Amino acid sequence: LSRLILRPHPKPLPQVCVFGVPVQTCPMVHPDMLNVHLVAHTHDDVGWLKTVDQYFYGIHNDVQHAGVQYILDSVISSLLVEPTRRFIYVEIAFFSRWWHQQTNATQEVVRDLVRQGRLEFANGGWVMNDEAATHYGAIIDQMTLGLRFLEDTFGKDGRPRVAWHIDPFGHSREQASLFAQMGFDGFFFGRLDYQDKRVREEKLEMEQVWRASASLKPPVADLFTSVLPNIYNPPEKLCWDTLCADKPIVEDRRSPEYNAEELVNYFLQLATAQGQHFRTNHTIMTMGSDFQYENANMWFRNLDRLIQLVNAQVIVPIS
Ligand SMILES: [Zn+2]
Repeated sequence: LSRLILRPHPKPLPQVCVFGVPVQTCPMVHPDMLNVHLVAHTHDDVGWLKTVDQYFYGIHNDVQHAGVQYILDSVISSLLVEPTRRFIYVEIAFFSRWWHQQTNATQEVVRDLVRQGRLEFANGGWVMNDEAATHYGAIIDQMTLGLRFLEDTFGKDGRPRVAWHIDPFGHSREQASLFAQMGFDGFFFGRLDYQDKRVREEKLEMEQVWRASASLKPPVADLFTSVLPNIYNPPEKLCWDTLCADKPIVEDRRSPEYNAEELVNYFLQLATAQGQHFRTNHTIMTMGSDFQYENANMWFRNLDRLIQLVNAQVIVPIS
């Protein structure tokens, strides 16, 4: 983005930038445009249809295709190919296991990516805990275990800035209070009642500061909280994983499969419509889902193309 300037435009148009949470590592924010934050992520349940070990190693792929060791290998390789790429990782039970199996050289490369904000951790607990059935003591213990690993391994660079509870089925006030007291700057979640979501979209209440405690003196338990627009999935037609069947972006006009213009127009409409449910000129798209990025190249190649094509529509390069 450093080689580009904006063309003044009467109406705000989407401008895409990749960012891993937090905002500080986003390339550049454009105050007079809609900023679409494409968050490349994978959601890796620490035990669900398979055991933790089966998920990590990719065993019983007939039950569910999922192998976290390959996801992390592939993501790191893809990040190294192109410095503008970003990724967030969440579940430290998996990440720490993978980390301990790497060579010193790979660990050094990953430390660099973390230092540069190209690989960032969100939430950072050992797992993404449930909010209804769990006791607060267990929540604190598992968050401590994950966050301690990150601090010991990466120091300040590894500290997650936001809580990321994209899959728990329902959210408790006490969980938000605990997150605020742990020092998170914000909290993103995916699941809420569809009627609640509709009202929030209409009233522009998708993002609010949650006063998460009735007894703690404000702002101790106040926490910026954001509802993700599409649970934690990518928008329809824009899932570029081996687990999806959406078309890749074809830029070659001579190809009968050429679709770049159509996809860019679709994206611009989608982003504009989504942006209307938010008060600021920022909106988020979660580009990933359950156990995705086992072939990270598929995702990143198409995200690179999308960003380049959309920004070319709305941004004019300096001659
Ligand atoms: Zn899950």
